[in-house]
Amino acid sequence: CFTILHGTRDLAVALVDLTQHVARLEEATATLLIPHALPDAPQARPLLLTAGGVTFDDVRFAYPGRPEVLKGVALNIQPGQRVGLVGSSGAGKSTILSLMQRFYDPSEGRILIDGQDISRVTQESLRQGMAVVPQDISLFHRTVLENIRYARPSATTAEVLHAAELARCRDFIEALPEGFETVVGDRGTKLSGGQRQRIAIARAILKNAPLLLLDEATSALDTESEQAIQGALDTLMEGRTVVAIAHRLSTLRNFDRIIVMANGEVVDDGSPTELANRAGPYRDLLARQNVIPMPRAA
Ligand code: ADP
Ligand code: MG
Repeated sequence: CFTILHGTRDLAVALVDLTQHVARLEEATATLLIPHALPDAPQARPLLLTAGGVTFDDVRFAYPGRPEVLKGVALNIQPGQRVGLVGSSGAGKSTILSLMQRFYDPSEGRILIDGQDISRVTQESLRQGMAVVPQDISLFHRTVLENIRYARPSATTAEVLHAAELARCRDFIEALPEGFETVVGDRGTKLSGGQRQRIAIARAILKNAPLLLLDEATSALDTESEQAIQGALDTLMEGRTVVAIAHRLSTLRNFDRIIVMANGEVVDDGSPTELANRAGPYRDLLARQNVIPMPRAA
């Protein structure tokens, strides 16, 4: 970077160079922000994602130095299935999503994606195969455009705008002082919880991964945000395998399957109608949320 510059062409080249360095530095920092990333296994191979099926093969897990939090979880999630994870706080739902991203390895058992043990594939390929919409969405101190593009740095501006449109964020972004060029984040223009969530959905749409992990925000949203988010999520979920933690059971209307967890175990598992029509842990949750199950003809 300290070479003497000859004329404007060299300066332009140097600037492009510098921009690329900054971009790479930012990507490296973003990687560092991923909690507890484990090293690749020796001879790790890229994950070959075909259908997007997920298997938990009797998984047990404890956080270092803590009591066991998953006590033998066995699950078979079919490709394209939409699975809602519910259960009281501390049941182990977020831990399930963390293990699928391999922030930790199970202490016993294995997690397979399309038949491949995720502890034996490269982290990079694992991350590429899944899009995650977390509960707490972090925005960089950059423009909205860059914040969405971050999910797929090679995306064109047109692709970013299209993702924003599908995520129902285009209108509010265009109403910001400088539209898509508005700098956001903690030190920039602040966005509401619902707006941040839609940005996260736009990122996931742009990433276009076959596996989708969602951790629903617990904070109350205004009705308009909630409707926009529901629409955006419906678009995002189309054609993907989805594992979603839901706090509001109403979020799970269009899901194929609901898994209820309690104390690190699966205590109920079935379609929403099936579970709503028989006494059990899911019905108890419905009752607690004052949702009256729809009556069914026998
Ligand atoms: P849920 O998402 O269903 O509320 P979690 O998976 O977050 O449940 O937590 C399951 C249990 O693991 C809880 O007892 C929680 O306190 C504990 N736990 C969660 N994260 C950590 C962590 N990083 N370190 C230690 N214990 C944790
Ligand atoms: Mg949680």
